[in-house]
Amino acid sequence: MVINSVGYVGILVHLVLIPLFYWLGFPGLSLLNIFSSILWISAWASNQQGLHHPAIVLMTIEVFLHTLLVVPTLGWQAGFQYYLFAAVPFTLFNNKFDGKAIIFVSIALGAEFLWLSLYTHDQPLNPALSEQQARLLERSNIVIAFTAQCIISYYFRLASIFLEQELENQAHTDPLTGLYNRRRMTDFLTQQGKLAARERTTLSVAFVDIDHFKKINDNYGHESGDQILQAVAYFIKRQLRKDDTLARWGGEEFLLLLPHTDIGGARVLAEKIRNTVAEHTFQIGGSEYAVTLTIGLCEHRTEHPIEESVKLADIALYRGKQAGRNRVMCYS
Ligand code: GH3
Ligand code: MG
Ligand code: MG
Repeated sequence: MVINSVGYVGILVHLVLIPLFYWLGFPGLSLLNIFSSILWISAWASNQQGLHHPAIVLMTIEVFLHTLLVVPTLGWQAGFQYYLFAAVPFTLFNNKFDGKAIIFVSIALGAEFLWLSLYTHDQPLNPALSEQQARLLERSNIVIAFTAQCIISYYFRLASIFLEQELENQAHTDPLTGLYNRRRMTDFLTQQGKLAARERTTLSVAFVDIDHFKKINDNYGHESGDQILQAVAYFIKRQLRKDDTLARWGGEEFLLLLPHTDIGGARVLAEKIRNTVAEHTFQIGGSEYAVTLTIGLCEHRTEHPIEESVKLADIALYRGKQAGRNRVMCYS
């Protein structure tokens, strides 16, 4: 995206410079800009085809050489050296460049700027240019180089926001099922516990555990176990309301947080989930397999910390297992 946008600016600038230099009496620079335009268009086209590395290298080399030829010809006053500033952050987008390459390119661009300053700064303006024309060129160059710098900075910001969100999503999501993980669920539990206490509303938690899950792994392999986990996560999720939160709490255990739900409502939902899974025929390795769930429920008492209710739901789950599995057990 950034190479594409900078490409548009580069192509436009060089195309405009062809007639401009000719009109100002510099046919040599006009010819140079025909080559530069062809180079920029080729670089832009390679970027479109996914060749980002050659595109960015071509564009940077062009800026380097163009500046090296134009500044000594016209004079420092015309301001063509400012493009070197934008070229430095631009090369940082080249992910094929390692740290050393980036430092090398940055030093080369900086050295060029310094060299031009030393040798052209105090030289008189090219006599073919009037003071006014030089000033106009300089200001146009400042505006364009500044715009290029802004575009590049904007994309850096976009990239960093995107990465931050990626990292946050990864930190909060269970990669196998796509559900929230335990860490994120802990935040939701605290949040909802406080909200329920403040608004004096009911709230229930449910532990869902797959029965004899170890057998599935042992008999059909870990991969089949993973598929069952994904399927069960999907079946549970399908039964939930918008406000309910589901997380993968541990191996084959899911935790459900049900705001505005008393133990009666939680039981109805839990039975629905248990039935849906129990009635489904799972296919593992070509054979049919029945999966059952045991669910432990607890209605949260807002005068207690929410962790307490999670513990009680776990106790209910344990009692459900003791009582023979494939059932919903409420803590009382
Ligand atoms: P119970 O009915 O008492 O719950 O028995 P169980 O076999 O389901 O429970 P147990 O705690 O003995 O075993 C859980 C198994 O879940 C053991 C572990 O290897 C498996 N497991 C945990 N995480 C994963 C996972 O991500 N993928 C797979 N395939 N298996 C997992
Ligand atoms: Mg289990
Ligand atoms: Mg378990």
